[in-house]
Amino acid sequence: MSAKLPKKAICKWDRDTLEQALPLLADQIAGATLVCRKCGRAAQEKRLLCKPLKLNSLRQGKDAKD
Ligand SMILES: [Zn+2]
Repeated sequence: MSAKLPKKAICKWDRDTLEQALPLLADQIAGATLVCRKCGRAAQEKRLLCKPLKLNSLRQGKDAKD
């Protein structure tokens, strides 16, 4: 795989970028610890979301331990 994760937020990717980086995005989602509270996208890296919010902070009462 030669694709590289784009530097800008997933929220701002265009269609071509998305298509090219989709496998990398899959990894981000699989291990996501953050969610964008504006767009609902998920990722591991803060820089990939425009309004990153920790998933854990939204899961209080369930399994907030991590
Ligand atoms: Zn966003």
